[in-house]
Amino acid sequence: MEKPLGQINEKTVMFSRKLLDPGSERYEKYYEEFPGHKEPDLHFRSKPGLLNEHAAFYDPFAFNTASAILKSVKAFHPIVDGEPAQRTSDIEAEKIASSIRKWILREGAVSVGFTKTHDYHWNSVIGRGDDFGKRAQLPHSHAIAFTVEMDKKFMDTAPHAPTVMESANQYMRAAVIATEVAMIIRKLGYHARAHIDGNYRVVCPLVARDAGLGEIGRMGILMTPEIGPRVRIAVVTTDLPLPLSAKADHSHMIKFCRICKKCAHVCPSQAISVDDRKDIHGVKRWQINQESCYTYWCIAGTDCGKCMSDCPYSHPNNLFHNMIRALIKNSFIFRHFAVKMDDFFYGRKPKPKPIPKWFQGT
Ligand code: SF4
Ligand code: SF4
Repeated sequence: MEKPLGQINEKTVMFSRKLLDPGSERYEKYYEEFPGHKEPDLHFRSKPGLLNEHAAFYDPFAFNTASAILKSVKAFHPIVDGEPAQRTSDIEAEKIASSIRKWILREGAVSVGFTKTHDYHWNSVIGRGDDFGKRAQLPHSHAIAFTVEMDKKFMDTAPHAPTVMESANQYMRAAVIATEVAMIIRKLGYHARAHIDGNYRVVCPLVARDAGLGEIGRMGILMTPEIGPRVRIAVVTTDLPLPLSAKADHSHMIKFCRICKKCAHVCPSQAISVDDRKDIHGVKRWQINQESCYTYWCIAGTDCGKCMSDCPYSHPNNLFHNMIRALIKNSFIFRHFAVKMDDFFYGRKPKPKPIPKWFQGT
C-alpha cells in the first residue's frame, strides 16, 4: 500500500475556498498564503455557482431539494463528536466490530472496512467552520470506512439536476449511519467521531482504500470493486481497537484505468488527465484539476458526476456486470476487450440519459 508523504491542508480544497468571503480577513490571508489560487478562484467566482438559479441546469425542485438535504446534514455537525460514556460492560472489541459491520450493512451500505489510522489519513489543518485553522488530527488509532450507493438512474442524467439531488441524498444517508455508529461507540465507552459532508478531519478515499474498500483510480477518488466510483464514503475514527480488514488486492482497477480513460474523455472541463500516474507527495497517483472541475460545477449548478456515471465500473452490481468485472480482474486481454465493448454498447462519450419521468412530474 503506497503511503503519501505529508498531509492535505483542508484550507486548499475547493469546498473550503468557495466559503472564503471576498473582502474578509480570512479571504485576504488565504490568498496571501496561496497567491497561485487567486486567479482560478476569481474565475469560478465569476460563474453562477453551485445550486444557483442562474446556472445552466437549474431545476427549482432538484436544486431546492439538494440544498434542503445538505442543510439537514449540517444539523448533524454538532453531534459528530462528544465525550464517551463511562465504560460499564466489557464487550470484546472484536464482537463490537462484528456488530458494527452488520449494522452498517443493514443500514444500506455497500461495503464496510476497518483500518488503523495513519498520519496521511488526517488533514493537517481544518479548512472550514468554527475550527478553521486548527489542527485536524485526533488521537484516534482506528477507523471504520463505508460506502453507500449513488442511484444509477439518477447518476445517468449527469450533469443534469437529478445528480446533485442524489449526491445530497447519499451524503445524508452516509451522515445518518456514521453519526449513529460514532454515538454507539461512545455509548460503549470509547471515543469516536463521525466524518461527514462539510465536516471532515480525514481524507475519506485514503481511509477507505486502506480499509480494503477499493483503489484510487484515474478520477483521483475511490473505485470500489462493486460499483466503481458510484459511491459516497463516510468514516468514523475511534480509539476502539478494531480488528483490521483483510488486505485486498485491487490493483487490477489501476491497470484497467490505464487502458480505459473514459472519464477523461467525457469530462466537460478536461479536469481528468489521459496520462499515466505521476509522483505526487511521494506516491504514484492520478490527480484531477480541482479548479477546472469546480468551475464547471459553478456553471452547471450541479456537482456534475459525468465521470462517475460513465465509468465502466459504475454499471449495476448484478450477475452480468460482476462477470465482466471478474474477467477484467483476471485477464489482461479482456481489459482491452472490455473497454471496446463498453464503447460499443454505451459510446465513448455517452449522452446524458433522460431525466426520470416521475421526476419530471409526468
Ligand atoms: S472511467 Fe475508466 S479510467 Fe476513469 S475511473 Fe473509470 S475505469 Fe478508470
Ligand atoms: S465531476 Fe464533471 S467536471 Fe468534475 S471531473 Fe468529473 S466529469 Fe469532470
